[in-house]
Amino acid sequence: MSRIDLHLHTTHSDGSLPPAAVLALAHKAGVTALAITDHDITTGIPEALQAGASLGIEVIPGVEISSRFGESELHILGYFLDWQDPALHARLAGLRASRHSRNPQIIERLRAMGQDITYDEVRELAGTESVGRPHIARVLMNKGYVKSAKEAFDRFLAQGKPAYVPRELPDPAEAMAWIRAAKGVPVLAHPLWAKQNGEGLFALCGRLKTEGLGGMEVHYSTHNPKQTAELLDIAKRLDLLVTGGSDFHGLTKPDIEVGVGRGGLTVPTKLLEPLKHAASA
Ligand SMILES: [Zn+2]
Ligand SMILES: [Zn+2]
Repeated sequence: MSRIDLHLHTTHSDGSLPPAAVLALAHKAGVTALAITDHDITTGIPEALQAGASLGIEVIPGVEISSRFGESELHILGYFLDWQDPALHARLAGLRASRHSRNPQIIERLRAMGQDITYDEVRELAGTESVGRPHIARVLMNKGYVKSAKEAFDRFLAQGKPAYVPRELPDPAEAMAWIRAAKGVPVLAHPLWAKQNGEGLFALCGRLKTEGLGGMEVHYSTHNPKQTAELLDIAKRLDLLVTGGSDFHGLTKPDIEVGVGRGGLTVPTKLLEPLKHAASA
């Protein structure tokens, strides 16, 4: 079956595989088009475009920007953007800098709790400018302090846990404006993270639409059929584009595979054309 996958991470942010290796997995899974959506960075796109050209996979330039939502975060995906736009680069660099100032504070807290890890170790393992908590989790794993990345988040790194440090983030409206300014289409990633009930989510997405939102990630690795149907209904009522993706990270989320998520994900190929159309409109 022909499928697409519009949400993938690589070693350029917190994924564990380089773009070419992600493309190879996509090829095996029968994915005909995909988007590389690394957190706050677009440097993985050239390698993906090259691999896509040789494998016959269409590569859509993308990004995933974290924005503030009360005490938590909303993630905004951007599609078909001009990934070489200098203003976008400057804005993303600013976001990454705010992560850099936060990471050492997280490490300090972990060290205070007796975990012998350093920021140099985390940066070395990450090997990218886009260093984040998943890299810290992997160092904790490698050193035997936790058995899995999930345990590292559950015990230390998640919001409300002892090593959690909030970061400076743009508002969703600001993140969407950055994507629009780079000629991209802003899409709300994994909408259930907002922890709203049906009507709450409808109201939230309605508000985001007035601020520039173009679409919603209806198809996602962890959604069950009922959740997918509910999100599809909200997207239809608000006239939002429908997208979908696995949110593949490699080892950081070992149960999620490219193209198929936990096995049951299928993002229909027909979703691509309306998205492309919106980007060029
Ligand atoms: Zn996300
Ligand atoms: Zn993601």
